[in-house]
This record gives sequence, structure tokens and C-alpha cells, in this order.
Amino acid sequence: MVIITLQRDKCIGCNYCVEMDPAHFQMSKKDGKSVLLHSQNAKGFFTLKSPNHVIVESCELAAKACPVKIITVKET
Ligand code: SF4
Repeated sequence: MVIITLQRDKCIGCNYCVEMDPAHFQMSKKDGKSVLLHSQNAKGFFTLKSPNHVIVESCELAAKACPVKIITVKET
């Protein structure tokens, strides 16, 4: 399983994650922050779980590009 998290309230809206991984991140037109697509919100931590390990590479690029380090990628 791959687990991606986004601590959304700390997003500064720089768009880097979207550039690196548009399949999983999109900018919200409402508040200008990143949205982790198909994720579930638990107290501000948005989490996406996927059995598809192919997504790790692009999600890690997004995590590395994020200047405030609010994206994590874990493999279990
Ligand atoms: S890279 Fe980080 S700070 Fe920039 S938009 Fe994405 S989540 Fe927000």
C-alpha cells in the first residue's frame, strides 16, 4: 500500500506539487491551496491510500518539491 498525506492548512499555494504530479495534486480555485485528489480529510491531514506502487515516484517528486514539506509518501 502507498500512503500519501498532505497537511493542507500549511500549504502556501506555490503550485510545485501540481507541476510534479498533476495526476494527484490540483490547485483549488476557492482558496489557492493544493488539493490531494481522492483523499480523505482527518483533522486537516488529507490522506490517499493506494495499492498502486507506480504512483510513488511522481508523488515523491511532489513531496521533494514542496518548500514547506507538508507532503509525505510512505510505502507499507
Ligand atoms: S508544493 Fe507544497 S506548498 Fe506548494 S502548492 Fe504543493 S502542497 Fe502547497
